[in-house]
Amino acid sequence: MRFDLITIFPEFFAGPLDYGIVRRAREAGLVQIHVQDLREFTKDRHKTVDDRPFGGGEGMVLKPEPLFDAAEKLLGHGVGDATQREVREPGTAIVLMSAAGKLFTQETARRYAKLERMILICGRYEGVDERVAEHLASEEISVGDYVLSGGELPAAIIVDAVTRLLPGALGNEASTENESFRELELPDVNSSMPDTLTRRGKLLLDYPHYTRPSDFRGWKVPEVLIGGNHAEVAKWRHVQAEEKTRRNRPDLFPR
Ligand code: SAH
Repeated sequence: MRFDLITIFPEFFAGPLDYGIVRRAREAGLVQIHVQDLREFTKDRHKTVDDRPFGGGEGMVLKPEPLFDAAEKLLGHGVGDATQREVREPGTAIVLMSAAGKLFTQETARRYAKLERMILICGRYEGVDERVAEHLASEEISVGDYVLSGGELPAAIIVDAVTRLLPGALGNEASTENESFRELELPDVNSSMPDTLTRRGKLLLDYPHYTRPSDFRGWKVPEVLIGGNHAEVAKWRHVQAEEKTRRNRPDLFPR
């Protein structure tokens, strides 16, 4: 999978995408991450990427031309104008980072992990000329209900969340199946799990993990985890995951 990150701060990405799973995925050739300097796609002497907002108001807005030019160069073809219908390339998503976008979730990450290519546009200042959202980006995505100063951290979040879902990115393939935001399977009729825990489609957060020492400052690891009874351990983890989800994220429970 190929990622292109379009930014006015290309140096920003030296670091966040150079460690752990993402680093190994890059080294193994599972992902190629290319950082594109938006200023390289400007045509004026001052390499202008922003301008004042029409209608007045504070701050600056990223201009549409360099962003369209950058994306078209990367795609290898034009994306048209107001007189033409837009051409969308299957397998490619052009995502605009935006606090006003749709919320990025694990489900979004799973959908993106099936793509061949992602072009991520990082906004700055007051944001990006709306024609980019309307006629260039295939989606406008927010990483959470808060405002950051730029789209670079959000883009790095997306690259990370998507990369670790690619087959082969994690040493142990099973490990993405057993983490937070997985969807539970239909209950096995003979299951010993309480019915409420195994309803399909419910998102659960991860269960608590413990490691040695079993007694740390008098705080002991739950007895059931030490006993070696796998069925009991599995049941305990379900109950704990549900309890934690209720406590920390009651919104994940459809009423
Ligand atoms: N005026 C905008 C905020 C601009 S912040 C508003 O009120 O919504 C500057 C840039 O940071 C945005 O263009 C976007 O690319 C990025 N950004 C800020 N918060 C973000 C978030 N929660 N998710 C994704 N991108 C975000």
